[in-house]
Amino acid sequence: MVLNTRLPLQADFLIIGGGIIGMTISLELKTRFPDASIVLLEKEQQTGQHASGRNSGVLHAGFYYTANSLKARLTREGNRAMTDYCIEHKLPINRCGKLVVARNQNELAGLHELIRRGGVNRVDVYLLSASEAGEIEPKARTFEQALYSPTTSTISPVHVNESLYQDTLLAGIRILTGTAFISSKGSEIKTSKGMISAGYVINAAGLYADHIARSFGFSKDYTILPFKGLSLYSENNAESFRCNIYPVPDMNNPFLGVHITVGVDGVVKIGPTALPAFWRENYQGLDNFQFSELIKILGMEARLLVTNNFRFRKLAMEALSKARKNKLVLLASRLAEGVRQKDFMKWSRPGIRAQLLNTKTMTLEMDFCFEGDDRSFHILNAVSPAYTCAFPFSKLVVDEIGRRLK
Ligand SMILES: Cc1cc2nc3c(=O)[nH]c(=O)nc-3n(C[C@H](O)[C@H](O)[C@H](O)COP(=O)(O)OP(=O)(O)OC[C@H]3O[C@@H](n4cnc5c(N)ncnc54)[C@H](O)[C@@H]3O)c2cc1C
Repeated sequence: MVLNTRLPLQADFLIIGGGIIGMTISLELKTRFPDASIVLLEKEQQTGQHASGRNSGVLHAGFYYTANSLKARLTREGNRAMTDYCIEHKLPINRCGKLVVARNQNELAGLHELIRRGGVNRVDVYLLSASEAGEIEPKARTFEQALYSPTTSTISPVHVNESLYQDTLLAGIRILTGTAFISSKGSEIKTSKGMISAGYVINAAGLYADHIARSFGFSKDYTILPFKGLSLYSENNAESFRCNIYPVPDMNNPFLGVHITVGVDGVVKIGPTALPAFWRENYQGLDNFQFSELIKILGMEARLLVTNNFRFRKLAMEALSKARKNKLVLLASRLAEGVRQKDFMKWSRPGIRAQLLNTKTMTLEMDFCFEGDDRSFHILNAVSPAYTCAFPFSKLVVDEIGRRLK
C-alpha cells in the first residue's frame, strides 16, 4: 500500500528500514515521545520483504546464549512479549515446544551445556531420557537424553509484520514505502524521493545497515557477510510432527544446524542452509545483482579461506553440501524417523542472514551490535533470534538513544 506521495520536510525521528526492528522501534519511540514526528523509510513497496518476511518463524526460548550476551537478556523476554502479542491480536501461534537431540556420547556434553545455560538465563528447559523425549515426539531420535523446551513455538512472520504495519499507521507514524535512504550530510538526509531534515536517525536497514552506518562515520571495523537460508518443506507431512527438533549446535558456529520445524499450519520444514550469498539480496538467479558487492564479498571470503578463521573452510564446505536436497534430508533424518526424500521436494522462499563480520579480527560477531551518538544510532547485527527479541530489543535501543540524547 502506498500512502504518501509527498515527502515530509522534517522528522524528529527518522527510521531507515521497515523490517520488524524498524517497525517496533518506531512504535516504542511513539510510546515514549508521543508528540514527536516519526517517519519510517522503506526502500521496497511494502514493509517486511527481507529477513523479517523470510525467516523460519521460530520463537526461540533463550537457552543457547552465554549469560553475558544481549541475546540471553532479550530472548526469554522477547519470546514472552511476542507470544502475548500474537494472542492479543489473534494471530496464529503453534506452541509446539522443541526437542534438542543428541547423536552420540560426545554431543551429550553439548546438551548438558545448553541445560546449564538455560538455567543461568532463567529459561524453562528439561533434561529428558530418550523414552521421555519419545512421549513428547514419538519420531524424535536421540542418544540417551534430550533437552525439552516447552516455550519454543512457531508464529507466522507475515501475519505479525502486517499487524505491526497496521499498528504503526494507527499510532500516527508516517511510513514512506518505495523510498530509499541514499546519503546524509549533517541532519539533511537524501532519499530516492527527495530531502528530509531529521532530528535523529535510526538505522535498522538489515543487510545494508553497515553500509548506511558508514555514511554517518560508523561501522568502520565491520561489514555484512550475507548467508542464504533455504528450507525444504513437505506437502504430505502436515501435522505429522508434534514439535520442533534441533541438533546439538556447534557453539562456535552462529547457525543452529539443520532442524525440523512445524509451522502454524502444521507444515513441516527441514533446513535452513547457510550458504554464502554473493551479493546482499542474492535470493534467486541474478535478481538484485550488485557487481561491487560481489567483488567485496568474494574478496572477504577469499581472505577467510586463506586465514581459515572460525574454521571457515569447513563451514563453507559443509554449507555447500547442504545445498543439495538429499544432504538436507539426510541431516534431518538423523533427528527423526520418517523423514523421506519423496516428502521433502519443494524449496521454500529463501531468506538471507545479515551476519556481521569484524574486518579487523576477521571473526563473525555472535551477539547483537549497536553504534551511535547524539545524531544517529545503528543496529549492526540484528541476526537470529532478533525476530523473537524484537519488542525488548526495541525498548533497549530507545533506552540507548535516550542516554545519547541527554
Ligand atoms: C533464513 C532465516 C531464518 C531465520 N529464522 C529466525 C527464527 O526462526 N527466529 C528468529 O527470531 N529470527 C530468525 N531469523 C532472523 C530474523 O529474521 C532477523 O533477525 C530479523 O528479521 C531482522 O529484522 P530487521 O528489521 O533488522 O531486518 P529486515 O527485515 O531485513 O529489514 C531491513 C529493512 O531495511 C530496508 N532497507 C535496506 N536498505 C534500505 C535503504 N537504503 N533505504 C530504506 N530501506 C532500506 C530493507 O528493504 C528491509 O525491509 C532468521 C533469518 C533468516 C534469514
